[in-house]
Amino acid sequence: MNIDSIKNGIVIDHITAGKGMELYRLLSLGDLDCTVALIKNVGSKKMGKKDIIKIDADIDLSMDILGYVDPNVTVNVIREGKNVEKRRIGLPERLTDVIKCKNPRCITTTEQELSHVFVLTDKKAHVYRCLYCEAKADGNE
Ligand code: ZN
Repeated sequence: MNIDSIKNGIVIDHITAGKGMELYRLLSLGDLDCTVALIKNVGSKKMGKKDIIKIDADIDLSMDILGYVDPNVTVNVIREGKNVEKRRIGLPERLTDVIKCKNPRCITTTEQELSHVFVLTDKKAHVYRCLYCEAKADGNE
């Protein structure tokens, strides 16, 4: 498959093989009305294998979710069949309402209106901690 089949939309490229499904779920791509393709285990010279997601619409994607699940992805914006923008993501410093704190004693468990905020505390090890109770996030599972 190539990006030629998309006229206006987004291609998420260089997804670590196996993480495409997690991105699909966290980005709620299943709720979209447009065509969405998740292509798994595509051969890649650089990565061996990779996943690719193609979305046949110009939607707003959460860069936080993308960066959290896989900071190495590339987001290509396609307009009129041309790749007009190539965006690298990287690890977000802060995650708001992407993942939930699982500590039963955390204030976010009782205060339903509170946002679930996680802060990047260790860039190398990709460690995120809850802003309120400092519990460690489960990591990229
Ligand atoms: Zn917490």
